[in-house]
Amino acid sequence: MNKKRIVLECTYCHTMTELRDFSGACPACGEVIVEARYDFNHFDVQTWLAQLPQRGRSLWRYHEVLPLYNTDHIVSLGEGQTPLIKADALGASLGLKHLYIKDERQGPTGSFKDRQATVAISALKEMDVNEVVVASTGNVAIAYAAYGARAGIKLWAFFPSLTPNDKMREAALYGAEIIKTTGNYDQTKVLAAQFAQTKGVFLDRGIKSVAAIEAMKTMAYEIGEQLAQALGGGTPWRAPDWFIQGVSGGMGPIGVGKGFREMYDFGLIDAMPALGIIQSSGCAPMVEAFERKQRVATPVEDPRTIIATLATGNPGRAYELLYDYTEQYGGHFASASDEEAFNAIRILARNEGLSVEPATGVTFAGLFKLVRMGVIRPDDVVVVNCSGHTMPVEKTILGEQWQKLVDLSNVAPAPKVPTEHLVSALEKVDLGDSPHKKRVVVIEDNEAAARLISRIIQSRPEVEVRLAYNGAAGIDLIRAWTPHLVITDLMMPGVDGFTVIETMKNTQELHDIPIVVITAKELTVRERDQLYSQVDMLLQKGTFIDEEFVTSLLSKL
Ligand SMILES: *Cc1c(COP(=O)(O)O)cnc(C)c1O
Ligand SMILES: [Zn+2]
Repeated sequence: MNKKRIVLECTYCHTMTELRDFSGACPACGEVIVEARYDFNHFDVQTWLAQLPQRGRSLWRYHEVLPLYNTDHIVSLGEGQTPLIKADALGASLGLKHLYIKDERQGPTGSFKDRQATVAISALKEMDVNEVVVASTGNVAIAYAAYGARAGIKLWAFFPSLTPNDKMREAALYGAEIIKTTGNYDQTKVLAAQFAQTKGVFLDRGIKSVAAIEAMKTMAYEIGEQLAQALGGGTPWRAPDWFIQGVSGGMGPIGVGKGFREMYDFGLIDAMPALGIIQSSGCAPMVEAFERKQRVATPVEDPRTIIATLATGNPGRAYELLYDYTEQYGGHFASASDEEAFNAIRILARNEGLSVEPATGVTFAGLFKLVRMGVIRPDDVVVVNCSGHTMPVEKTILGEQWQKLVDLSNVAPAPKVPTEHLVSALEKVDLGDSPHKKRVVVIEDNEAAARLISRIIQSRPEVEVRLAYNGAAGIDLIRAWTPHLVITDLMMPGVDGFTVIETMKNTQELHDIPIVVITAKELTVRERDQLYSQVDMLLQKGTFIDEEFVTSLLSKL
């Protein structure tokens, strides 16, 4: 253990410094992003692989490749080893066969910053630091505050003006000193640095980049192990074709990229993933530079997004590192608006049962775009970093009418409440089942896709949906129920979509019902022409069906 050597390599000038002697920046050029290198003389990959299954379920099972000299200094809350969840419903609607969600919401403080906190706070404990200053948009401070509390390290947390109060309260609960500024994140970082210098308190800056990159790297190791279990393959572990994340400072994908690179060098995987880097369109310096094919980003001075977590206006050299990675191994930068992010949050909650914070909504909105653009292909193995939990649920997402109130104030107090009064109170609640509902039939043989479409449409109170899993059942249902709208797939066993449409057009009572076709089939020119004359809308699968789509559909009825 004491033989372990950890050397930090400057990402700019490649000067090496022993971790022990590191002061927060490269001694030669002042660069703050440095990468840890380990001396692997005493490290045998085969022995390590054989031991892993017996090791504990925290990210410290990879301690040989983490920047800590002595494992006695570990400060842990059981972070890491989060599930890799297969997203079938969302995958079906996007036309993706292998969509996986790395559920980082399940960390001790609800975001993937727990990884960074366990590594950083353990390293600080090893360095005998007992007070630390950090600037944060929220989640880093919450995680540092929790781990700091366990280690007896006092935290001074500086927040930009956009940070939601609930996040600051959470950090305060763990005993951190909370300083809220009226400025943006970049200004807050400068203020925190000045405060640290004046007060002579340790500034988590250099250690932050080392800890962040090394900690985020453990996500790659876990994905490698988990994907091998899920998919198998010719190598001990397996890399996805894509790793997708909503990005602010960029430490997540930089770390994950480094992790896969190490696994590649160990011979554990034989290919590197492409990176899908998503930013909030109100603060997207990386995306803007990428679109101009520039290796250096122009800082955004005045971020215009309410998603504080992603509001780093000046990504600095982190962007160059990510740009270089995508040049070498592939990848794409894309942005999504706040509104698209909130819409994605709803889709994810209703179809996969995952409630995520707005920054993660940006990630999924970006994924939808990359699929629509054809950058991500149907057969690609895709892993999405589900980076943080929504707690509490943002008001903007649910809107006004999310609960139904049963007013009991006019009813006599318990225990004398006659049941019939309660029942009549209940009757006043609008449960939405008026006889004026619009009836929609969905015919689709892929059950996951059928359920997804129906759930999205049924989220509108004025609609009632019924499903048929093949053409024959679909025709029966249409005859019996005369819907206002029919949504059908084309390729189905037995009676296909063409026959359903033909039958409707040849039946007088069904002739005028609008038809929407959703298909993955490559259509011939003739099929396309025929369909255009018969149907109201023709959609390729992979076109994302969201509430906007439903609104436009309903406007046709
Ligand atoms: C920090 C954070 C991000 C952005 O992470 P970086 O890799 O540092 O850009 C995204 N989502 C959540 C929930 C975060 O806390
Ligand atoms: Zn340097």
